[in-house]
Amino acid sequence: MKIKRLGRTELSVAENGFGALPIQRISRDDAAALLRRAYDGGINFYDTARFYTDSEEKIGYALGGVRKDILIATKSMGRDKRTALEHLETSLRNLKTDYVDIFQLHNIPALPDVNNEESDHYALLEAKRSGKCRFIGITTHRLDVAVAAAKSGLYDTIQFPLSYLSTPDELALIDLCREQDLGVIAMKAMSGGLISSPEAAFAFLRGYDNLIPIWGVQRMRELEDFLSYAERETPLDERLLAAMERDRAELQGNFCRGCGYCQGGCPAGIEISNAARMILMLRRAPWQEYTTPAWREKMKKINDCIGCGACRRRCPYGLDCPTLLRENYADYEQFCREHGLEF
Ligand code: SF4
Ligand code: SF4
Repeated sequence: MKIKRLGRTELSVAENGFGALPIQRISRDDAAALLRRAYDGGINFYDTARFYTDSEEKIGYALGGVRKDILIATKSMGRDKRTALEHLETSLRNLKTDYVDIFQLHNIPALPDVNNEESDHYALLEAKRSGKCRFIGITTHRLDVAVAAAKSGLYDTIQFPLSYLSTPDELALIDLCREQDLGVIAMKAMSGGLISSPEAAFAFLRGYDNLIPIWGVQRMRELEDFLSYAERETPLDERLLAAMERDRAELQGNFCRGCGYCQGGCPAGIEISNAARMILMLRRAPWQEYTTPAWREKMKKINDCIGCGACRRRCPYGLDCPTLLRENYADYEQFCREHGLEF
């Protein structure tokens, strides 16, 4: 597999990274099989988070024996020094290691306060000083925060959602990071499952020499696909360009990326991150998966929305989530009717 240099970290990273969020959803043995196949297939970079329940433990279980041969990035949502450092200790225990290669502040809404020695920024500095991490970074869904972090000179890596659906402004972040000699870690490289061509997603991002996509794979077939794209070189040819254009035409404008950051406090218990993009999912995935009786019940919960606006305030893309939910509800209802399903 082609090796890329991750900016000034000088880490040599295989061009396919492993995003370890989805392995929360599968059994420990299935996750271990997936992780070991990834390792055997040449993937050496594994990105996880304290927030991803047992993802770290599964990595420790599956790859603890080859720790010295892999690179691990984890992250903390602790918003002060003490909490973030406590999270790191837990991460190290789970991962069966005494250091991580990159320790990141997870999904920061703004740059941390560098004038406050109790802020989460000082957790990164302390972790680096003590040797519990080698490099430090941030992850965010907000472009202004990513740009500010890149310009600050404080971090070694920036993790941000990037794919062929990204806007020119978002893609310019990659060039800015190159100028600053920062490594870019691309999350949501399949745009939360909305991108229809993983092959085009791979071919598009491989062209950026300072960027590693972390594919959130959950099934062996998905992993094998990404391994095979690297093996076959997979140039961005006319067929893949056409696939990209189709997706771009269909997904222009404001669409829900499924990031889930609006989710926590919905008083109506609506599964917003799926419900707000349901009609796109119906068109792109086997629709039967999303029209089961259980899914129809979940979609009906949209009727319980009290319009509190909590989701709108939390959405890093500034989406009008309640409106998106209502639109998706109407489309879903019609889709069910057309397919003879009770709703
Ligand atoms: S506006 Fe509706 S969907 Fe959004 S958090 Fe409030 S109740 Fe939930
Ligand atoms: S509505 Fe916004 S915050 Fe919620 S899942 Fe979609 S993109 Fe993320």
